[in-house]
Amino acid sequence: MRRRSGDGGTVRLRAALVASWLAFAASVVWRPDRGEYQPWLDVGLYNVPFVLATVACLTRASRDAAQRSAWRVLAAGLAVFTVGNVWGSLVTGHDGSYPSLADALWLSFYGCAYVAIVLIARSRLDRFSPSTWLDGAVGGFGAAALAVAFVLGPMLADTEGRFSVVATNLAYPTADILLIILVVTAGTALRDRAWSWWSLVAGLAVLCVGDIVYLLQEFDDAYTEGGLLDLSWPLGMMLIGLAACAGGSRTVDPDVAPRHFTVPTVFTVSSVGLLVLGQRRELAGVAIGLAVAAIVAAALRTALTVREVRSLAASRREARTDDLTGLANRRAFVEGLDAALRPGAAVAVMIIDLDGFKEVNDSLGHDTGDDLLRIVAARLQREFAGSVLARLGGDEFGVFVTVGPGDDPVEVARRAMATLDEPVALADLVVRISASIGIALHPQHGSHRRELLRFADIAMYEAKRRRSTIALYDRSIDPEAPDRLRLVGELRDAIEHRHLELHYQPTLDLATGRIHGMEALVRWRRADGSLLYPDSFIGPAERAGLIQPLTRAVLEQAIAFRADLPARHRDLRLSVNISGHDLLDETLAAYVTAQLERHAMAADHLTLEITETALVADLDRARRSIDALRLHGIRISVDDFGVGYSSMAQLVGLTVDELKIDRTFVTDLASDRRMEAIVRSTVALGRALRLDLVAEGIEDERSLVVLRDLGCDIAQGYHIARPLPPEQLLAFLAERAPAVSTPDR
Ligand code: C2E
Ligand code: MG
Ligand code: MG
Repeated sequence: MRRRSGDGGTVRLRAALVASWLAFAASVVWRPDRGEYQPWLDVGLYNVPFVLATVACLTRASRDAAQRSAWRVLAAGLAVFTVGNVWGSLVTGHDGSYPSLADALWLSFYGCAYVAIVLIARSRLDRFSPSTWLDGAVGGFGAAALAVAFVLGPMLADTEGRFSVVATNLAYPTADILLIILVVTAGTALRDRAWSWWSLVAGLAVLCVGDIVYLLQEFDDAYTEGGLLDLSWPLGMMLIGLAACAGGSRTVDPDVAPRHFTVPTVFTVSSVGLLVLGQRRELAGVAIGLAVAAIVAAALRTALTVREVRSLAASRREARTDDLTGLANRRAFVEGLDAALRPGAAVAVMIIDLDGFKEVNDSLGHDTGDDLLRIVAARLQREFAGSVLARLGGDEFGVFVTVGPGDDPVEVARRAMATLDEPVALADLVVRISASIGIALHPQHGSHRRELLRFADIAMYEAKRRRSTIALYDRSIDPEAPDRLRLVGELRDAIEHRHLELHYQPTLDLATGRIHGMEALVRWRRADGSLLYPDSFIGPAERAGLIQPLTRAVLEQAIAFRADLPARHRDLRLSVNISGHDLLDETLAAYVTAQLERHAMAADHLTLEITETALVADLDRARRSIDALRLHGIRISVDDFGVGYSSMAQLVGLTVDELKIDRTFVTDLASDRRMEAIVRSTVALGRALRLDLVAEGIEDERSLVVLRDLGCDIAQGYHIARPLPPEQLLAFLAERAPAVSTPDR
């Protein structure tokens, strides 16, 4: 591998630095005449590390654009220092003048070192972070306070003699104090692991310590030339030179770098200790001042930390709250759920989706929509106090509750539904909110958050589809459950081989009290003998493209059954449900007509029921299909009327024959006056449009009476008869139906 020439240069420079210091060290240890000044050692060999360090700094300046000025300044400082050494040895050493040019040169080194260290630290820190610098300042002031209190204090008090002498005497310790402050501050602030940084810090620290010891010895007149102390300055030079030889500089992000609190903590404590000590013993005023500065920096740092923690908490809160409702948002919900799903915990996850929210938004405006969401949030919050309730997005809410022994999650959901049911005053209107809730259980349905949320979602859609408002997850409703594909395959077979069963639910003519007709309701008996209800396979059939053959199979079977009825029941009407997807089938009208003709059944004895929801989903297409069917004399009924949010205008645009009031309005008719008002106005509407009115879901006699009084034409429900298999229907008819017979044609 080829090495860059610069690399080879730095390696040689490093080796030379170490070698030069070792050589000088050897000369100090094995010095022929200890204590004697020897020019070739004390001027010559002594200054080699200085020169090499200066060269290293200059080389670094030429390589490192980001820190160029810092290293240049340092190189200048080292050069000045070196010249100071030479002058001090060759000139001052002989004439003994003090202060001399050497002092000026040495002291100027400090200035350069300060500037360099600040420039380097600044260029290495990604950006200015006050708390980082305050950490450093605590360390810097604290360390300097200790140094002054125990070492430098007496020197600062040495103020006797000529001004220039006093000034120079004070300048050295002061310069050292400043150097301590800067080195410790920058060392702490730049929590960097790079050895080159520490080598620089160590080099300056060694110079500083050397200086201080020298000052002490001078103070006591104990310094001897060529002693061990002389090793410190070349050692400092070597370390600075090695630092300069390192590669380019990396920046450190103050928020990401590991934060160590040892330095600030130790120096806060030591500064407090100094202040306490100052009460009992005379301490230099400067030491007290520095200790106070360290404590002030520590206090500022604490205040800043409190602010940082507060704003962190606030931004965390913001990141977890839904702006509109103040509830938790999806992120907080997911986190909470993850924590709640411990092994052994029984948890019900619910997804609550408002019905018809889009209509409110579209017709009353987004502000009103927002108001509605806030009202819903407040109501749910009351109901689910103590549980994590979140707005997951749009008009969808999520909540999870711990299920204790004997708790029924469906009951919990029902209570929530009841609070939503209260009328809401919105923009001068009173509206009622309804919602669909899907529930998935941990651990019964799944153990992972993702899985449970998906299952609750599937259950919610199933609830919407069935209009049953609450649905508990179950594999049979899951389009992606592995056995779902098998189900579709089996259903295809069942349709093809005519294995679908039809049950017939009789309808009652309220005016005459006679049986009016029957609604064919499909069931599927599977190979294992189980009987499936349409709710669990119509949806999959629609999704798997099986609805056309299914509808046709049902129509064929129902028409054939009715044709086979004993002649005296031939007047009975037949209703068959079709899916919204059947409206796409252009050949449906022709198919139905062919079947009717085949079985000699009058077209107006057949009613096709389409749910209001399916009709309004694509109004234009619905109108075309309906018109085609009615052209052939087939009657059309709007099934489950009242829950599809269709407007009067939409309804008037469709020419239909019958309205079938949804059972949710009928079942509680006798006990709930609001339901009665709805049914009454629906009957009035039907009358105005000259439609037949059918009420489904009648479960008691009182409802039947109310419906008759309200003017409803036809009734259907368990109270009259449940959907019956063909033989049972025949038995029922034999008992109830009129013994009149009218030929179909
Ligand atoms: P639907 O057309 O509204 O049928 C009435 C449903 O209400 C039937 O449920 C019936 O058993 C039930 N029901 C009748 N009287 C009462 C009562 O007094 N109280 C209560 N709580 N329920 C009552 P089923 O048979 O489970 O059918 C559910 C839905 O499946 C039907 O609702 C219809 O929309 C659909 N469906 C049924 N057969 C077919 C079919 O052949 N083709 C298509 N596309 N959909 C069908
Ligand atoms: Mg129906
Ligand atoms: Mg219905």
